[in-house]
Amino acid sequence: MIARLMPSPLHRLAQFASAPVAVLLAIATLMLTLVHRPAGADGLLGDLVSRPLSVAFLGPADGPYSLSIDLNTGDVIAEAPNQADHQQWVITPLPSGQYRLSNAILGEDFALTAQGRDRSLLMTPVDGRAAQRWSFRLNGEGYELMTGDGELGLLYDPAHLSTPILVNAGECCNSFQSWDLDGQAGAFAAAREVRQTSDDGLLPEAWSQPTDLTPDFFFADDVVEAARTGMVETMAAATEAWGNFGPIEYWVMGTDPKAANALLDTFCQRRDDRGDWSKNACLQREKRSEHGLISYQQLGADALANGQPGGNAGHNGGFDWGIHRFSSSIPLGMSGLLGVPGDEEQKTVLHEYFHAVQHAHVRDLDRDARDRKLGPVWWMEGAAEYMAMTTHARLQAEGKIPVWDNGDWTFNFRNYRKNMGRKFRQASKDHKRHDCVAEMVRIDYDSPCRSFFYDGGAWAVALLVSQHGEAVLLDEFYPRLASMDFEAAFEATFEQTPETFYAEFRPLIEGQLGVALGLLPKF
Ligand SMILES: [Zn+2]
Repeated sequence: MIARLMPSPLHRLAQFASAPVAVLLAIATLMLTLVHRPAGADGLLGDLVSRPLSVAFLGPADGPYSLSIDLNTGDVIAEAPNQADHQQWVITPLPSGQYRLSNAILGEDFALTAQGRDRSLLMTPVDGRAAQRWSFRLNGEGYELMTGDGELGLLYDPAHLSTPILVNAGECCNSFQSWDLDGQAGAFAAAREVRQTSDDGLLPEAWSQPTDLTPDFFFADDVVEAARTGMVETMAAATEAWGNFGPIEYWVMGTDPKAANALLDTFCQRRDDRGDWSKNACLQREKRSEHGLISYQQLGADALANGQPGGNAGHNGGFDWGIHRFSSSIPLGMSGLLGVPGDEEQKTVLHEYFHAVQHAHVRDLDRDARDRKLGPVWWMEGAAEYMAMTTHARLQAEGKIPVWDNGDWTFNFRNYRKNMGRKFRQASKDHKRHDCVAEMVRIDYDSPCRSFFYDGGAWAVALLVSQHGEAVLLDEFYPRLASMDFEAAFEATFEQTPETFYAEFRPLIEGQLGVALGLLPKF
């Protein structure tokens, strides 16, 4: 991505359904009841009635937590989510905007309920009482979970509370009353279905194989023809250069709010039609400012209003839907706006598509397993940026994509070395200030070295490619992820540990630009 990944727990919620979710849910329930109930579950059923629970969802301030039941003891605990069956919970939409929260193993026969004046939280058999219905209210960046009558809220803060408590739901709430339920309703229901089709928690093998599918682009109505052509032809050249991985959905916003809403509706309808996500949940989530689809329209509109070029594009996951999902604000340059050269946006499409290549080589749906394979931020972003810069220059030099040269500055293949040089100087400055080479182990974007991970990362990859050949990423490193984590694949490919490499890279970024430029290919 150019900005950051949507920090979405959707990564963990998987499905491949095309049939209506309701039907699959019914089938899944039956399957779970008849086939997949763990041995200990039967004995647990009786105990569960009126057993106090410790529960949590995904608290934005506290990192990911999920509900789980220990089938041996019957304890319900909050812990980091994993793929285990007994950690799956289902949120079933009920009429009038309410939901029932139930345990996937025990099926919809059992649900969370608030009972009695002491407001303890229990798991009890479903009997249709109002107390077993919960509603979710959007609250800032999260959702507030309330009883059906909206009077009680579920409160949990792992740092300060050993168990969740029920509180009066006031006008608004303190921060630990926020629950991040990005993957609410439809997605949770879908998570249940996937266990029937993907017991191993992996995407199908075809995910990592080149495909004949053409990447799907979806443009808001106000995106001009030149921009559409420019993006599609760049993507076609990218898939030819690096292999065609997919399926790809690339959603491109313009600046007009009406057109943006229409595109959002198309997006959410598509999710619903494919059984990916309920349309309502989709609309609610994607209207949010933080990386929601609508936010990409706002970026473009703001840029035009301020007369300042700006925007964003990102690979926003989509694995659980069996796709690579991309979102983009208006390609200003390809639209002839604000003096941006269209060449920059060709490079952006290449950068984003390289993320698809990276993700294509990881079949794990579990986010932690995925992260362990994809490696630190410098490796993700540096590889995408180096490959995008270099391939952009090569494709233009070979006449496979056009030179735009329509902006207030130039970004064509003749400027390749100059632009890489600019990255070098910026990276070297950031490193001097923050000792960014020491930060290269990091796997999160929240760092003063964030832009170093892109610029310095591109140069780190340039060093590796200069030693091991242009094909080393595509032919050697990424295919190894089928069976190895980042560290092992790195060592097998580059014959050194990442740590040894960082020590080798340090003098390069602390040294002379001329030496570094000698590493680059020539066009
Ligand atoms: Zn990126």
